[in-house]
Amino acid sequence: MITFQCLGCGQQLSVDEDRAGLNVTCSHCNQIIRVPRIPPAGVPPAPSQPVEWPPAGYKPPSCLPHAARPYAVMGTSGKATASLVLGIVSLFCLGVITGILAVVFGVIAQNEIRRNPSLTGSGLATAGIIIGIIGFVGHLFVLALILAH
Ligand SMILES: [Zn+2]
Repeated sequence: MITFQCLGCGQQLSVDEDRAGLNVTCSHCNQIIRVPRIPPAGVPPAPSQPVEWPPAGYKPPSCLPHAARPYAVMGTSGKATASLVLGIVSLFCLGVITGILAVVFGVIAQNEIRRNPSLTGSGLATAGIIIGIIGFVGHLFVLALILAH
């Protein structure tokens, strides 16, 4: 008998020795796994010890999505983009509210970029702040005109 662990679900599986090196289907998760070969004769393992599988240092594929994370840290600051978008929106509608938000997001983004040099978008944040102020002041001006009447 060969005892090994399924790579898909970690279930302990036992198969006949004549299946060594062949593909078997896991009875637990139906994944097709290759049965590890028995170590060559001459270095017989302790009979009670199962064949070591997966080998030490093996990392299951489920770790792969984590490898993509560093890329999310680098690149353009999301808040800088948000600042610019809010700034543009503030020119057209609800400028008093979105204009302030654009300035707030822009300032946060610039602080973030200063702390984390791998982030870009400082220009976007600056543009967001300037457009946000224009949107805010412009709408305040329009509001003042309406209220004056
Ligand atoms: Zn399995």
